[in-house]
Amino acid sequence: MIDGKAVAATVRAEVAAGAGEFTRRHGRPPGLATVLVGDDPASHVYVGSKRKLSEEVGMRSIHHELDASASPQRLLDLLDDLRKDDAVDGILVQLPLPDQHDQDAVIARIAPEKDVDGLTATTAGLLAQGRPGLVPCTPQGVMRLIEEAGVEIAGANAVVVGRSILVGRPLASLLLNANATVTICHSRTRELGRMTSGADVLVAAVGSPRMIGAEMAKPGATVIDVGTNRTEDGLVGDVDFEAVKETAAAITPVPGGVGPMTIAMLLSNTLRAANARLG
Ligand code: NAP
Repeated sequence: MIDGKAVAATVRAEVAAGAGEFTRRHGRPPGLATVLVGDDPASHVYVGSKRKLSEEVGMRSIHHELDASASPQRLLDLLDDLRKDDAVDGILVQLPLPDQHDQDAVIARIAPEKDVDGLTATTAGLLAQGRPGLVPCTPQGVMRLIEEAGVEIAGANAVVVGRSILVGRPLASLLLNANATVTICHSRTRELGRMTSGADVLVAAVGSPRMIGAEMAKPGATVIDVGTNRTEDGLVGDVDFEAVKETAAAITPVPGGVGPMTIAMLLSNTLRAANARLG
């Protein structure tokens, strides 16, 4: 079993060391700006954890909260201010936004060099072209877990189920950039099981409880489960963990697998953005 909690703790310790070094060199800590619009309770919890963990690794948390009724222009103006603010190295806009905001326009207003969530078209384009840049947090966390499992990615058959902008697509780019042979599956894929059962590395990012059964995973495969589904049995992944763990070489649980990696990688991205801006 790949222990995402333990790997995330290692990543945070690495980031804390890097943040300390950055602070010594530049006389200020790396700064992560969080922007929260409205009063969605889950969003408040997520932003609260991001702020707490960023401070724990020695970063400065710069928080902005706007009312649910704030105008679209107000949010765009705030993002312009954060773009210019030298104390801000990373900008995170918590999604989803209230209805009056155009999410694509908001994302486009985030300074690409501070895009620590990896959502802008610039970040996605650099990644798709295999060029250096920031990388979305969850896919980056998945790559780190695959590496921790000791899997040779180069030359492996990797299958990603899901093609969202947040997870599936950037993950497929990362795997391709690491020289895997990559297949992307989605809701229109025919014979999904035939595709997944050829995978040396299988990643499920769908949002469908336990849809990947034992018959869909090759014995000896490395199986990474991004799915988080709230069910009557609690939080479960897209993989039938109990069944697939019997034959997989390595597998992530839900919870305690990919989930903890996402915030760890946000912190890692903030440090990377800070170093890229100030050297
Ligand atoms: P999403 O935007 O809803 O995308 C789901 C993808 O799955 C789509 O590409 C969809 O195909 C595909 N799909 C749906 N039904 C399918 C089926 N029967 N067979 C094959 N593919 C199917 O979701 P997301 O944002 O990528 O998130 C995926 C899951 O990961 C969710 O459970 C989410 O909660 C979780 N997640 C976890 C973390 C974390 O930190 N652990 C972070 C992000 C997301 P089409 O494109 O054809 O519609």
